[in-house]
Amino acid sequence: MIKFDNVSKIFGDGTKGVDSVSFEIPAGEFLVLIGPSGSGKSTTMKMINQMIPATHGTITVDGKDIKDLNAAQLRRNIGYVIQQIGLFPHYTIEKNIAIVPQLKGWDKQKIKERVTELLQLVGLDPDTFRDRYPKELSGGQQQRVGVARALASDPDIILMDEPFGALDPITREQLQEELLSLQQKLRKTIVFVTHDMDEALRMGDRIAIMKDGKLLQLDTPEVLLHDPADGFVEEFIGKHQ
Ligand code: ATP
Ligand code: MG
Repeated sequence: MIKFDNVSKIFGDGTKGVDSVSFEIPAGEFLVLIGPSGSGKSTTMKMINQMIPATHGTITVDGKDIKDLNAAQLRRNIGYVIQQIGLFPHYTIEKNIAIVPQLKGWDKQKIKERVTELLQLVGLDPDTFRDRYPKELSGGQQQRVGVARALASDPDIILMDEPFGALDPITREQLQEELLSLQQKLRKTIVFVTHDMDEALRMGDRIAIMKDGKLLQLDTPEVLLHDPADGFVEEFIGKHQ
C-alpha cells in the first residue's frame, strides 16, 4: 500500500508542483492519475520512488516512511516506465531488461531465463528481439520492452508516466488491452499517468483527477461519471457520459 499524507512539493523557485495531497493506493490497485498539463501528475509519481523528494508531508510504502528508506533499495522494488527515452540506445534489448537483475547480483543463467520469460510475457519473440538494439524496434515494441524491464525484478509497484502517449491509436489500444490482461495475472500496484480520459476510464480501478497541484477527486470510473465532485471534474470527463 502507498499512502500520501498531506504531501506537497514546492520547487526551489517557489512553484507549488503538488499541494497538500492525501490518498491511499491499496496493494494490487491500478490507479490512474489524470489532469491538465502542469497539474502535478509526474511530480506526484516521482515522489513515490524519491526521484523528487517531497518538501512537506509523509509518504509511506507498506507502512514505512520512504524518507527512512535507502533510495536505491526503494527503487529496486518499484518498476518505472516512461514515454520514449526509456531504453538505453547502446544496450541490446536483453541488456536493457537485465539492468535491475544485474544490480541485484543474479547469475547469468537466471537473468537469461528471466529475459526470455519477460519477452514472451509482453508478446515479443525472444529469439528475434533479444540481441537487437532499441532503434531496430518500432515504438510499440520499445514500449513493450519498457514494460518488460519494469517487471524484471518482480517489483510490487510499477509507475508508468504516459507510457503509451507517443503511439498510434491502434497500437495504443492493443498495449492497453495487454497491460490489463497482464495485470489480471500479476496484480501489481500500478500508478499510471495519462492525458487521455478514454484511457483512464478503460484502465483504472480508480482515477485521481489533479488540477494546479491539488487532488480534486479520487474515485472509481462509475462514481466519477455519475457523481463528479465539482464543475471542473464534470467538464473534464463530461464528454464521456
Ligand atoms: P504534463 O501533463 O505536462 O506532463 P504534469 O501534470 O506531469 O504535466 P508536473 O511535471 O508534475 O506536471 O509539474 C507540475 C508543476 O510543477 C508545473 O507547474 C511545473 O512547471 C512545475 N515543475 C515541475 N518540475 C519543476 C522544477 N524542477 N522546477 C520548478 N518547477 C517545476
Ligand atoms: Mg508529466
